[in-house]
Amino acid sequence: MEYVQLQINYLDWESPAIESKTCYDLCVKHGKPVIVMEPVKGGSLARVPESIDRLFKQYNPDASPASWAIRYCASLPNVLTVLSGMSNMEQLDDNTSYMQDFQPLNDEEQAIIVQATEAISDAIAIPCTACHYCSEGCPQQIAIPEYFNLYNMMQQFPQLKSNSKLYYDLIAKSHGKASECIECGQCEAQCPQHIDIIDNLKLLATTFEES
Ligand code: SF4
Ligand code: SF4
Repeated sequence: MEYVQLQINYLDWESPAIESKTCYDLCVKHGKPVIVMEPVKGGSLARVPESIDRLFKQYNPDASPASWAIRYCASLPNVLTVLSGMSNMEQLDDNTSYMQDFQPLNDEEQAIIVQATEAISDAIAIPCTACHYCSEGCPQQIAIPEYFNLYNMMQQFPQLKSNSKLYYDLIAKSHGKASECIECGQCEAQCPQHIDIIDNLKLLATTFEES
């Protein structure tokens, strides 16, 4: 094995579901360089909430939110390359403007990333770690952690609500919908985070099925 490709971005770095840092550290331990995918988390870190955008702009008015996310990954010493996923000329120009003569994030910029991560993470509505203990025995085959993830994404990035709804409809084609929960309680007995799954599914049904 010559390299390992990992999902890494500043929001997923310490995420218990993605474990970017844990996977990265393992690669370092085994001397394997890392190729980064999802540095802007499917585009969501290119369209950060206004408060985070202000934070970034205060430090550097010319730097795009995507540049912060991509430079964060490219600053990791064991990273070989970052797959930035550009899809038009504007993104290509932006990307080359900071990658051609690359400067790693300095200490002040790293501190700003920590602030941004905390602010976005604070908006997590349902503290699900995606362990899947709940969904394995669900008689309705409801994709509980996947739905919770979509709901959390929507709370963190309200501008992506239509994307979350789209993904919800897609997942619901092969799984039970949130509204199909029969309240048997199996899932709540399994959840190590003690999440009120049944009530949260009702909230999701209202959010994703009635709009
Ligand atoms: S309470 Fe609902 S979501 Fe939980 S296992 Fe039963 S049917 Fe599935
Ligand atoms: S058991 Fe709890 S923490 Fe684990 S996936 Fe289900 S809801 Fe999330």
